[in-house]
Amino acid sequence: MKKIIIAIDGYSSCGKSTLANQLAKKLNYIFIDSGAMYRAITLYFLRNHIDWNKPNEVIKALPNIHLDFEYDTEKNQSHILLNEEDVSVLARDMLVSENVSAVSTIREVREFAVFQQQQMGKKKGIVMDGRDIGTTVFPNAALKIFVTADIAVRVERRFKEMAEKGMIASIEEVQNNLEMRDYIDSNREFSPLRKAEDARTLDNSLMTREEQLELALEWANKIINK
Ligand code: C5P
Repeated sequence: MKKIIIAIDGYSSCGKSTLANQLAKKLNYIFIDSGAMYRAITLYFLRNHIDWNKPNEVIKALPNIHLDFEYDTEKNQSHILLNEEDVSVLARDMLVSENVSAVSTIREVREFAVFQQQQMGKKKGIVMDGRDIGTTVFPNAALKIFVTADIAVRVERRFKEMAEKGMIASIEEVQNNLEMRDYIDSNREFSPLRKAEDARTLDNSLMTREEQLELALEWANKIINK
């Protein structure tokens, strides 16, 4: 059967990774959460006291960062490995969330991540979510979805997700973080977050996970079976 690339972009915490993961599972495709890569790079910089405002430090540090993904088929979760250490939980920490968008503005960081993402998509059969997947990483993706949801809905989802994982943050902190990241992501110089011209918009504010999956699957199957 024909294999395609599915690019899913959108604002912070609007359910992109959940949709991408479920879609990949249904289609038997690889799922890649590109945000986890930027988060792992940020964690490395923080841990190693790399000053990302100094290009020399960034250029020297990047070759020491090895990123990998491991899929836990029992829990249906993708894990990000930073130099062979599973940092999936640490990478979602508030300190990382507060700094990841600044790190993601750096051209060298983006080139480093985008190169690896493009390698992963060479064989197609991949669903990748992020901010610049349909515009920069895979501009020729057969299906591009731009996910949106009301800010109040996104804040509540992220707050619940963090509480379930025992991460402590107030509703205000979560909202400020989402708004700050959306602002930096949309206004940066290199591959800012924006909807690709040929992307379909999926507003899931009033949709269940099942409903959004059903809609995306319908779009994907139409293209695959054409
Ligand atoms: O998807 P997630 O919210 O985990 O991404 C964390 C951050 O990584 C985003 O706020 C953005 O700054 C950055 N990112 C990016 N490009 C991507 C994916 C994520 O700049 N393709």
